[in-house]
Amino acid sequence: MTATLERPVSTETSVLDDARAQLAQAVGVLGLSPDVHAMLAEPRREVSVSIPLRRDDGSVEVLRGYRVQHNYSRGPGKGGVRFDARVDLDEVRALAMWMTWKCALLDVPYGGAKGGVRVDPRGYSTAELERITRRYTSEIAPLIGPNQDIPAPDVGTDEQTMAWMMDTYSVGRGHTVLGVVTGKPISVGGSQGRAGSTSRGVVAVAVEALRHVGIDPEGATAAVQGFGKVGRGAARFLAREGVRVLAVSDVNGAVHHPDGLDVEALEAHVDATGSVVGFPGGTPVESDEVLTADVDLIVPAAVEGVIHAGNAARVRARVVAEGANGPVTTAADEVLAANGVLVVPDILANAGGVVVSYFEWVQANQSYWWSEAEVDERLVERMIRAWNDVLAYATDNQLSLRLAATCMAVERVYRAHEVRGLYP
Ligand code: NAD
Repeated sequence: MTATLERPVSTETSVLDDARAQLAQAVGVLGLSPDVHAMLAEPRREVSVSIPLRRDDGSVEVLRGYRVQHNYSRGPGKGGVRFDARVDLDEVRALAMWMTWKCALLDVPYGGAKGGVRVDPRGYSTAELERITRRYTSEIAPLIGPNQDIPAPDVGTDEQTMAWMMDTYSVGRGHTVLGVVTGKPISVGGSQGRAGSTSRGVVAVAVEALRHVGIDPEGATAAVQGFGKVGRGAARFLAREGVRVLAVSDVNGAVHHPDGLDVEALEAHVDATGSVVGFPGGTPVESDEVLTADVDLIVPAAVEGVIHAGNAARVRARVVAEGANGPVTTAADEVLAANGVLVVPDILANAGGVVVSYFEWVQANQSYWWSEAEVDERLVERMIRAWNDVLAYATDNQLSLRLAATCMAVERVYRAHEVRGLYP
């Protein structure tokens, strides 16, 4: 039996250090001036709010929440809301900066933002989570809106959270504002295909990356860390592509099968029990083994900093597709590159969610909805185009995929700054 896993520690740097180091590298490659670097490194706006919560037993607990808008030169802020016990301002700042680059890279007309509440949702009832969400939303309401900043789900939040956010915001406005959040349930203006969109995008580029390193996806092997909104869908879409998923983990433990797990049966087990642990179609393994399994592809789809200087040398996969944001630290990036492991960076690999969020916002603003097939086709087309563009840029300039993607994105944001000029 595996023990409950705490967050794997990235000892060398914080997630904000990693985000800033990536920007500094891109600024160096692009030859941008120190003033431009300084502007891009700082969030444009950030708010820290107190969230008094009346618990079901009548007591009051005060939680802390944040919303950071890193940049909105190319359009309204866009980024998820995370409910997690480890949320802090620096983490939200890093995630907001990555959203700026992700939106620019995929050429959706948004800037970057992120939000979070420091709370472990597992310790709260549904009614308490609703009160937390509504109070958080009303505290950040002056900053958000379909033309200002559009939240979406992230770790620990889901479409129900988005429905509560949309309702709270709409009640404050006196009319329904569908475009204020994305990742909503279909019944209140959500898009077909949004739920699986991040995973679908991860798998679309992971398959391209496997082919690029000479591995046929059909019959290739993979391991997935995290079995939430991103990891679970990634396992499902990988299996549909003929990739054998040998190992998966969640926060409670991991399971492995040498011939490949039956992903459909595993999903049924998770629906019934809430965890991959105890799945009869596999054997329990240590959670960390998922990252060092003897497979062609790993998809870290849980939290930041899980592949770090301490374990990067033991990664045996040829390709790492970053389902999570920031799962590979800066130090680990160097080790993986030296060992010939191709890392498909988060701002490219997991951008499918924001692409379909954009589609959802477009549909909500026009009150005209597309079919699932239309959404899927447009999503995959954009992901493959971005993959090809990043690969070409990396090859032409002799850069890693991460640095190439960051350079392309930073340059687009810089161009928007340049043409808009500095006010006043
Ligand atoms: P989620 O809350 O739905 O799922 C997280 C999963 O990770 C859960 O299965 C949890 O048990 C597991 N987990 C947590 N800590 C773990 C650990 N130490 N080891 C193994 N498993 C662990 O969250 P999500 O929405 O799937 O997000 C996962 C990652 O993907 C985050 O980095 C998030 O920012 C990123 N992301 C999400 C989306 C999206 O559309 N949801 C889009 C882009 C990026």
